[in-house]
Amino acid sequence: MKEDTGFLAECLQELSVMIGERPTGSASNRRAEQYIGSVFKAHGLETEHQAFDCLDWEGGSATLRMDGVSIPTAISPYSLPCAVTAPFTILETPEALREANLSGRVAVLGGELTKEAIMPKNFTFWNPEHHREVVRLLEEKAPEAIITVSFSKEHPLPIFEDGDLMIPSAVVAGKYFEAFKAATTQSLELQMRAERRPSKGANVIARNGVPGKTKVVVMAHFDTKPGTPGALDNAAGVAVLLQLSKLLSENPVSGSVELVAMNGEDYFSNPGQMAYLEAFGKSPDQASLVINCDGAGYKVGKTGVSTLNCPEGFVRQLDQKLEAFPALRMSAPWYQGDHMIFAPWELPTIAITSEEIFPLIDEVIHTEKDTVELINAEYLRQTAAFIYEVIRDQ
Ligand SMILES: [Zn+2]
Repeated sequence: MKEDTGFLAECLQELSVMIGERPTGSASNRRAEQYIGSVFKAHGLETEHQAFDCLDWEGGSATLRMDGVSIPTAISPYSLPCAVTAPFTILETPEALREANLSGRVAVLGGELTKEAIMPKNFTFWNPEHHREVVRLLEEKAPEAIITVSFSKEHPLPIFEDGDLMIPSAVVAGKYFEAFKAATTQSLELQMRAERRPSKGANVIARNGVPGKTKVVVMAHFDTKPGTPGALDNAAGVAVLLQLSKLLSENPVSGSVELVAMNGEDYFSNPGQMAYLEAFGKSPDQASLVINCDGAGYKVGKTGVSTLNCPEGFVRQLDQKLEAFPALRMSAPWYQGDHMIFAPWELPTIAITSEEIFPLIDEVIHTEKDTVELINAEYLRQTAAFIYEVIRDQ
């Protein structure tokens, strides 16, 4: 047991401290990919690096001046750079956007238009028409830049996160909306540094295969947002995956297992998920069960095990197994996360995340505060041991 928590702590250390942030397409993301592949191989598993195209985006400072004062501003992730001085138009509703003439102007979007993040234009899993319309109208009207006023009063939480959007975009915290409305000049100055470089990324897939048999897919994403060590999100899940590869090498199981270190959950267009699904759709050995581990092992509260499309008898078995793992318990369904990419197949699915992670989402997750100190390695040991038993008994 001690040896196992030691191994898990080592994995967390490597991914979250030695490598740190690992956005899809970046050099550190490739380092994480190589590390995961090497651990899988060391445990004797056949390993595939499933490659795809993406961007290596580097964003720098953003400055916004209006009426001679600076307003704290952040560049939207994946945005193009800009240096503009132009008049601006405040838009709060879809109707106002439909009617606006934005040529040569900066569009300041707030109110109804920015009450939630807008899906990237080429995102296919879920993209409502009112999001598509906003993007379409902006591209038609081609403002010099877009400033979005976040739904969050205190934090500039991004509205656009879209490497395919060809208009530079910035974000300010909600509390600054008044400053635009009260401005005495009609013009502002926005400067942002950034670079979009074409790059590559890869999922790392380890197989313990029995040809022709349906498989259990266990996945955890290893990429992060820029600027976060991504310990809970999701070095923790990857550590569980690597621990599983160790358990499988020590005590092989008779069934087929695919361990998928997914790359792109925190990247705007989910390219790793798309690449995986494309191959998955064509693969003859279908999955009988999908297990996703994202945000497990938070030292506060328990790690929750939720199910989707699972027969009642199977859920009861899981519940019984959990009696041996006090850090875990059955939990309410969880509809976010990578496992939802399998929704069209309606596969039995187990999603594992920390029950108390939700209060961390605005302040800690995706920030520099998501560090290994938040994680209890013993919880991860139990998570891996539980998943191992589920696989073994399939
Ligand atoms: Zn995540």
